[in-house]
Amino acid sequence: MNKKIISRIKELKEKNNAIILAHNYQLPEIQDIADILGDSLDLAKKAQDTDAENIIFCGVGFMAESAKILNPKKNVIIPDIDARCPMAAMVKPEDLLKVKKQHPDAKVVSYINTTAEIKAISDICCTSSSGVNVVKNMPDKKIIFVPDQNLGAYIQRFVPEKEIIIWPGFCSTHHNIRKDDIFKLKKQHKDAEVLVHPECRPEVIDIADFAFSTNGMVNHAKKSDKNEFIIVTEKELCYRLQNENPDKKFYPIKHAICPNMKKITIEKVLNSLETLEPKIALSEKIMKDAKKPLENMMNIGRGD
Ligand code: SF4
Repeated sequence: MNKKIISRIKELKEKNNAIILAHNYQLPEIQDIADILGDSLDLAKKAQDTDAENIIFCGVGFMAESAKILNPKKNVIIPDIDARCPMAAMVKPEDLLKVKKQHPDAKVVSYINTTAEIKAISDICCTSSSGVNVVKNMPDKKIIFVPDQNLGAYIQRFVPEKEIIIWPGFCSTHHNIRKDDIFKLKKQHKDAEVLVHPECRPEVIDIADFAFSTNGMVNHAKKSDKNEFIIVTEKELCYRLQNENPDKKFYPIKHAICPNMKKITIEKVLNSLETLEPKIALSEKIMKDAKKPLENMMNIGRGD
């Protein structure tokens, strides 16, 4: 069945001049058919570089929105319009505007995991790989950081001279990972290096060997002399890591699953290629206002 679907997907990609971009947390079957796999920053850049007319974005809503904002003339299609990030929904424009009013001297840094409406009222965006660089490079002393409290606290470690007002949002997939989950794996795999994502709790980051974005983990695992790694982020990253490093071993946190990322299935990808729907649609004004903070982010680049 899958073979038939995959060959139809290939045909339609060519016919429709389409490209499939997929986030590192996508199901293995989606990773297998992707033209490009990556984290949010990487995919945003690839979306800008592609000549394809249709971008099939396998990820969650805010990622596809960012691709559309950076490529307003292209069709950006997300195979399930309900694949949305709950953390992105934890900051509402009216609430952010209130906090901005209370701190008129602060600049707003929004994690890329925000809606286009939030980006439109931000000064600059960042990803987990570029957050520290972005805040360090700003001349401003006071920052409002939305929406992830754990990434905000992680960035604060590197810029003690700045005052960061941290929004209380969180990603439950990462926030639900506890120190004990890592201790248990470490007991079984004593030589394994522990790599964590900065969306994890500070006490989890404290016991890790390194904190990286997902692409940072991919690059590190390739270069490292170590052969075993405990991967503290959404578990599907281990599928990519294992594929790219067949001689090394990767141990996931088994309960770290993002149900939103898993809404994209191979059947839905096929359907999107057949219909070129559902398309991401945003107002001209939101696209124009959200583009600047995204471009500001792209000019600074990643930190890992
Ligand atoms: S892993 Fe967390 S931050 Fe990423 S899409 Fe899922 S809920 Fe959102």
